[in-house]
Amino acid sequence: MHELPFATPADYEPACFIEQPGEGRWFVFKGDQVMVELGPPDPRPSDDPRVRERPSWARLPLQKNHNWLGSEATRTLYLGRLGGVPCYAAELAGEAPAGFAWQGLRALFSVLDDAHFALAGRALQLVEWDRSHQFCGRCGARTEAKRDERVRICPACKLSAYPRVAPAVMALIRRENQLLLARGPHFPAGMYSALAGFVEPGESLEQCLAREVEEEVGVRISNTRYFASQSWPFPHSMMIAFVCEWSSGEIRPQAGEIEEANWFDVLQLPKLPSKISIARRLIDAISAEIRSEIAK
Ligand SMILES: [Zn+2]
Repeated sequence: MHELPFATPADYEPACFIEQPGEGRWFVFKGDQVMVELGPPDPRPSDDPRVRERPSWARLPLQKNHNWLGSEATRTLYLGRLGGVPCYAAELAGEAPAGFAWQGLRALFSVLDDAHFALAGRALQLVEWDRSHQFCGRCGARTEAKRDERVRICPACKLSAYPRVAPAVMALIRRENQLLLARGPHFPAGMYSALAGFVEPGESLEQCLAREVEEEVGVRISNTRYFASQSWPFPHSMMIAFVCEWSSGEIRPQAGEIEEANWFDVLQLPKLPSKISIARRLIDAISAEIRSEIAK
């Protein structure tokens, strides 16, 4: 299986501190937009219903000067090396420098170099974490970054604030040659996906799956099998995907959460999420599996 989007590149060496900062690759953010040199819009339609238009190409800044953004940068974090090149993440409040533009990260999938795209997902999460942990959540004192570890520590009460990762499970439910797909109220028109939900404190992944499925569509599942996982930086999730079999119950969509849920024959699937997400990888893999069973 090919690596999923946002998987850590093989030639990336993480680090939090660099002795002599100098030339490097920059991952600069304003909210969830990243600063890039940008080509004209790509005339080909985007595969992501959430992205209207993609640029034809985009490049991250490579700069000789470590102090490139000067005092304009609200924060700068050292990320480590990618292919031997030092990488920096930063947050900028104002305009992008001449020659650069702000672009939503999602629209850069399959446009930016894959390794740069993956590291941008990591950088986005770290910048967001750094921004929201400047003060201690317990006593309110100003926190300090540690040199040898990605953590902010409170000098007054010693509370450690590590970057947050929120685990979420995804369930693709199979019944013979059909898949249960659902749409939430905020989904793009016509798009359906697998079910997903955040893990609660005290729950195992298996328990979370059973609860989410029962809550969202009112059915019970069995024969759960692990599929794969994906880091998802919007804003800081870890998606853990499973395939399971329907065991009982009729579909009963949860009010407010699920606008519609149906059984779809694998030969007649509706509009699906972009290939950026593990949901699409999961649905594609399992429907291919079922189609090959049908062909036998
Ligand atoms: Zn404190």
